[in-house]
Amino acid sequence: MSEQYQGTAKGFHGNITATVTLDGDTISDVTAEVEPGTVGGLGVARLENAVKAAGHADVDAITGATISSYAFEAAVHKATAVAKGDLTAEQALDAATEDPYKPADATTGASENVNVVERNPSPVTKPVPYNDDVKFDDSYDVVVVGSGGAGLAAATEAAQAGLSVFISEKAGIPGGTTNFSGGVMQAAGTSYQKALTSYDNDNPDKHASYWIDAGEDQVDMTLVRDLAKNAPKNIDWLADMGIKWQSVYGNNHIPATSTLDFADRIHVYDNGKGGGGQMGDGIVLTQTLLKAALDAGATISYDTPTTALVQDRDRKIIYGVVVHQNGEKRLIEAKRGVILATAGIDHNLELAKAQNPQHYSDLQHHANLSAVTDTGDGIFLGMAAGAGINGMGGTIDLDGKTGNATNDQIPSMPMIYVNAKGKRFVCEDATYAFTMRAVFQQEKQLGKPTNMIFDENSIQAEGSAWTAETLAKDVEKGEVKKAATVAELAKLIHVPEENLQATLTEWNTHAKTGQDPVYDRQTGIAPLTAPFYVHQTTAMNLGAIGGLTINVEGQVLDVLDAPIKGLYAAGLTAGGWLGPYYPGSGTAIAGIVHQGRKAAQTLIKKRM
Ligand SMILES: Cc1cc2nc3c(=O)[nH]c(=O)nc-3n(C[C@H](O)[C@H](O)[C@H](O)COP(=O)(O)OP(=O)(O)OC[C@H]3O[C@@H](n4cnc5c(N)ncnc54)[C@H](O)[C@@H]3O)c2cc1C
Repeated sequence: MSEQYQGTAKGFHGNITATVTLDGDTISDVTAEVEPGTVGGLGVARLENAVKAAGHADVDAITGATISSYAFEAAVHKATAVAKGDLTAEQALDAATEDPYKPADATTGASENVNVVERNPSPVTKPVPYNDDVKFDDSYDVVVVGSGGAGLAAATEAAQAGLSVFISEKAGIPGGTTNFSGGVMQAAGTSYQKALTSYDNDNPDKHASYWIDAGEDQVDMTLVRDLAKNAPKNIDWLADMGIKWQSVYGNNHIPATSTLDFADRIHVYDNGKGGGGQMGDGIVLTQTLLKAALDAGATISYDTPTTALVQDRDRKIIYGVVVHQNGEKRLIEAKRGVILATAGIDHNLELAKAQNPQHYSDLQHHANLSAVTDTGDGIFLGMAAGAGINGMGGTIDLDGKTGNATNDQIPSMPMIYVNAKGKRFVCEDATYAFTMRAVFQQEKQLGKPTNMIFDENSIQAEGSAWTAETLAKDVEKGEVKKAATVAELAKLIHVPEENLQATLTEWNTHAKTGQDPVYDRQTGIAPLTAPFYVHQTTAMNLGAIGGLTINVEGQVLDVLDAPIKGLYAAGLTAGGWLGPYYPGSGTAIAGIVHQGRKAAQTLIKKRM
């Protein structure tokens, strides 16, 4: 006789409740309730089928959705534990109850990726040489490698123009890091910006100047201008596909850029749940693009990494790719070209060590929120085919505890960052990655952490990262420390007392006038007085900057700047369009959508 039981576990962005039908010890049916529009929701049908086929809960986790897979497994375990008398029905439905049969290797954590650094080297190899004997198993006009925002924008553009498109995706679900993003996107001069902000005279030229200034002479200006010029069209392209733009705001200022070029440009879409722009809302964008690409005839294959390019011996032309599909190696011809869209070197420790010191340090010490399948494969594939690299070195970092300076509508609370000498070193309310680059540099130069100092008044201020309750909890956990005097504070954070006293005296003297003549801070300028609170600055990494050299058509260039025929790159796989730090929210999504489309447009124009 079959009986039904239920269990609930905490998944990614919400709970998963499994309803399990048991015939004796065997699971004959399982259905799961998952919040729609979440990473957990993307893999759930596959997990249901796998458990039904196996008759038990212990099936393989889905790559790229491991937290959700383990949560699904825990929910099923908890349901079966009710049948066995190991849990009551009530306990099984309480997400806080531990999975009684939790496997030793189960991943835990609040996000799919926090602290999960794939130390496995990327699976890719050098190119397979092309000759007349090479037999392709399949043939398409375009092969897109990676189904994040860049890959899906490329696939949609190419498929809608009538080209046959194959998308190779290494993970078990689509979307990559783009799923985890807020989906916000910068553009200047759109109808939305005019209607929703006071900036009715903005234009792409000002936008490009701003990004070029922020790029500190390290960006390819042609790429940046082309991105700024096309960003408004891409906003409209997405709106035509059903994305509902609902608000526009600005990134925090950057001291070294001209304020004349600043405007509110960060476009936020409706996430369908009464909000927008929150981490995880990127899934609306990836699902919209995926649907458009599939509706236009594109094919996508999951758990199918591209592991090599097929290239002529003179290293001038790319003919296709090698993928691993269902345990088999298959050669796919790309008659017009291959678009690499596998993001940056996010979880690749070796490439980070060689090319990006800040990212290398983050991978070793801090949480990295980008998709664990992003191991720099496209960058390695391109380099192995002779491509040059450009713009390696920056990161998209923010202060992980406070999210300080991510939105210009939220002022920085009164606080200062101090280095190991007890001195201020940066404009604290500058955009987050600018500040976090300074934090990284101070920490490397002085070999010790930096700290954020605030006081009782800071908690009452607009933009405070803490309430009285959350602060009390953090003090109890030791994440925030409290000091009654400057001397005690200096001792707690191991900095010279006289320096710290001088720093606070200087800050407080200027703060009384509402000015920061030292670093030109604009918000949260108020004196700090005892008792003090202190929190060690901790970076949270959203991705590595830098990638393959491309031209404005999206073609990958070799080390002598000649195009490698048939090879294109888009999104964070491409370098040169972002400078040594991330210039503000919405830049990456603007870039990935534009470059995905641009590479596809070049392929569409290509004569056969
Ligand atoms: C939490 C968070 C919030 C963010 N919020 C924003 C925001 O609101 N706005 C903004 O502009 N930016 C934001 N960013 C940054 C932005 O999301 C990313 O930079 C961007 O989405 C990267 O897009 P992509 O298409 O280049 O790569 P991804 O979206 O990561 O896609 C790469 C894909 O390639 C696949 N892949 C990797 N290797 C292979 C292989 N060998 N074969 C086949 N497939 C492969 C991966 O599995 C993945 O699906 C955020 C980042 C994070 C982490």
